[in-house]
Amino acid sequence: MHFHSEVNIVQGVDIVQQVSKALREEFFSELNLCKDTSAVEQLRVKYLGKKGPIQDLMKSLKSGTPEEKRVLGKEVNDLKEEIASKIGETAAFMRKREIDEQLLNEKIDVTLPGRRSFAGRKHPVSAAMDEILEILMEMGFSVQYGPDIDTDYYNFGALNFAPDHPARDMQDTFYIAPNVLLRTHTSNVQARVMEQHRPPIRIVAPGNAYRNETITARSHVFFHQIEGLYIDKGVSFADLLSTLEEFYKKLFRADITLRCRPSYFPFVEPGMEVDISCLQCNRRGCSLCKYSGWLEVCGAGLVHPEVLKNGDVDPEIYSGYAFGMGVERTLLLKKGVSDIRLLSENDLRFLQQFDAI
Ligand SMILES: [Zn+2]
Repeated sequence: MHFHSEVNIVQGVDIVQQVSKALREEFFSELNLCKDTSAVEQLRVKYLGKKGPIQDLMKSLKSGTPEEKRVLGKEVNDLKEEIASKIGETAAFMRKREIDEQLLNEKIDVTLPGRRSFAGRKHPVSAAMDEILEILMEMGFSVQYGPDIDTDYYNFGALNFAPDHPARDMQDTFYIAPNVLLRTHTSNVQARVMEQHRPPIRIVAPGNAYRNETITARSHVFFHQIEGLYIDKGVSFADLLSTLEEFYKKLFRADITLRCRPSYFPFVEPGMEVDISCLQCNRRGCSLCKYSGWLEVCGAGLVHPEVLKNGDVDPEIYSGYAFGMGVERTLLLKKGVSDIRLLSENDLRFLQQFDAI
């Protein structure tokens, strides 16, 4: 039904009343279909706008008698006010409902765990390395670095590993060329330091070492090592033992006992494996020490005279000691880590368990 044309031909009270009645009904049925405030606004413009049907009805009254204008004018005005007030009411109701919905959708669950900012920290191996070096530096050692890729001479030859000696098999590595390899220990720094400095020499050499080994929970193809070297007049086995004892007491912050077992390393004579009393059971026996009461911590010995000679140091005048420890191994003992592979897998769930250092 289109009121515009019909309204223009209004000729009497009845017709105006019929039109306004129909208009009212149509308005309410359209209002019922409105789903949101913008639909209600469109309805307002449609019915109450300057070109809307109410305005048309008003215009059509101009041609009526004064009595018709009075009666019908009131009727049309009442309709106009009813529509306006109904639109205002509905719009207000819908606006409130829309705000409620918005609030509900944007509600923040304050009980959810917060997002922590991620702070980087040292890798546990770096932290352990730094801690070890700090203690050794306090004890008078200075830090010296050497190359990861080195010649057979510095890694083996200068350290008294004879070309076909079985000791080389124990330290199988990765060769880059026939005489160039990934160092198997940071002991390759020894000959370099002796070439450049005269005794007294009191250094520690930290860094990566590589071995051609099967990767297991206890061994890897790469690890970190710290080697100590002290050369001076009159350096004795007692100096070595007291140095190691002081170092391990400081490192593990415990009153540990040392135990030495004779062992063979080509570059020391005599050589030994050093154990400390178990940190967990103090020699009563537990799973950490495999019920032996002792934990193996490093290899050590007095510098072999041949090694001194290779470094142009006279073994008749000078003597020295050397020791070497694996950083991962030390960390495993100190922090109770069961698998060395965890330290190189870069899994944050594992790494974040270590204290920020
Ligand atoms: Zn134990």
